[in-house]
Amino acid sequence: MEHDFDLFVLGAGSGGVRASRMAAGRGARVAVAEDDRLGGTCVNVGCIPKKLFVLASHFSEDFEDAAGYGWSVGPRSFDWPTLIANKDKEITRLNGIYQRMLDGAGVTHISGRATIADAHTVEVGEQRYTAEHILVAVGSWPHMPSIPGIEHAISSNEAFYLEQLPKRAAIVGGGYIGVEFAGIFNGLGVETTQIYRGPLFLRGFDDDLRKTLAEEMPKKGIHLRFETDVAEIRREDDGLHLTLSDGSSLVVDQILYATGRVPKTKDIGLEKAGVKLGKIGEILVDPYSRSNVPSIWALGDVTDRLNLTPMAIAEAMAFVRTVFGDDPTRPDHADVATAVFSQPPIGTVGLTEAEARERFGNIDVYRSTFRPLKHTLTGRDEQTMMKLLVDPKTDRVVGAHMIGADAAEILQGVGIAVKLGATKAQFDETIGIHPTSAEEFVTMREKVQEG
Ligand code: NDP
Repeated sequence: MEHDFDLFVLGAGSGGVRASRMAAGRGARVAVAEDDRLGGTCVNVGCIPKKLFVLASHFSEDFEDAAGYGWSVGPRSFDWPTLIANKDKEITRLNGIYQRMLDGAGVTHISGRATIADAHTVEVGEQRYTAEHILVAVGSWPHMPSIPGIEHAISSNEAFYLEQLPKRAAIVGGGYIGVEFAGIFNGLGVETTQIYRGPLFLRGFDDDLRKTLAEEMPKKGIHLRFETDVAEIRREDDGLHLTLSDGSSLVVDQILYATGRVPKTKDIGLEKAGVKLGKIGEILVDPYSRSNVPSIWALGDVTDRLNLTPMAIAEAMAFVRTVFGDDPTRPDHADVATAVFSQPPIGTVGLTEAEARERFGNIDVYRSTFRPLKHTLTGRDEQTMMKLLVDPKTDRVVGAHMIGADAAEILQGVGIAVKLGATKAQFDETIGIHPTSAEEFVTMREKVQEG
């Protein structure tokens, strides 16, 4: 039977758009349905506006730091509505680019919420479409725990559209989004408290990164409250009253929950089609992104593998090669470099020290902590920490971590070396670029602990 489309994609985010365009480029008849703006979380309420906010918030320190170099910066003020308006304009421009890319590739863009009716049928409103393959790329959504008063809290979705910048804010959660927004709010002048239920935030990252960030953030004025959680939120005349599980309380104007994201798999017909879901509702897929129903595929956050935009894009490229290129390709989730745009930022690739010890037993650790050249004149007490983990049996660098200015930019290059399996000797043969912080990665000679 001839289907309406060769491929029907649910969700026009990073993964869905890339898969649509590439499949269409190979001659497939493709439709993509989206019930929100094109570009998904990353473009609209994630990576892009977040990075713009991080850049905005860093100016407060830059103005202070300028003094050490002889500059006097006059009275300064920050206007939140200007930032929001300029950000919105840029996002709208990006939405337009996504639209043109889909149009240019000949993809049919359907506005509306799509649900799966069966293994080859999708419904959008009253319309039914059939397709040889269905790709679910609907992403994830903030998870808000159910505590009394949670309705007074916002998630990152709303944080990008606040009409007013709060004077006092609390952020709950110790993951990527929590530490990033703590830095953003604080840099913009908000009295900021970050609350995390465990002993040290950024669980899963290398411990030296976590500890260094926990030392640096308070220096900038952020209040870190670990081993406590919000038990209740009450709205009163003077603000939101938070009762914490350690018995203390806090009054703020805004409370942002950054307590993880869950796959957006509810009510889109997956159960009806017989698609198997995992513990948090993620679509279970094989290494080629295929679900247990052979015509239904899934990629990106909805599969909860490595929830990063570039990974969703890589999964999309592999999917298109597999299905429309007759070239079965598995996306490679190993040694993916990633960054946390905290302040200072983190860049990381490969194994943490704890993971490396577990995998290799003995491990050589090289670490360097220093105050970057810039701050010799600013007087700012901000430390940069860099670290290499080496498997002594093969001399391979199995992990590289950095916290400090430009860590994200620096780790991208280091990520190539780690991905290629570079040895410590090859790092050492590389001549540094002087004077930079990055050169430290090729000049670390002293092991801090013997393997
Ligand atoms: P994360 O999963 O990274 O972190 C969630 C945090 O919330 C953890 O500290 C967790 O604690 C805590 N938490 C979870 N449930 C509760 C609860 N019920 N009560 C209190 N605390 C809780 O989620 P984020 O929301 O920060 O980010 C979502 C995803 O988005 C990330 O996984 C990441 O992949 C992606 N992202 C990537 C970015 C980047 O690349 N720079 C930036 C932003 C997001 P515990 O550790 O104890 O479980």
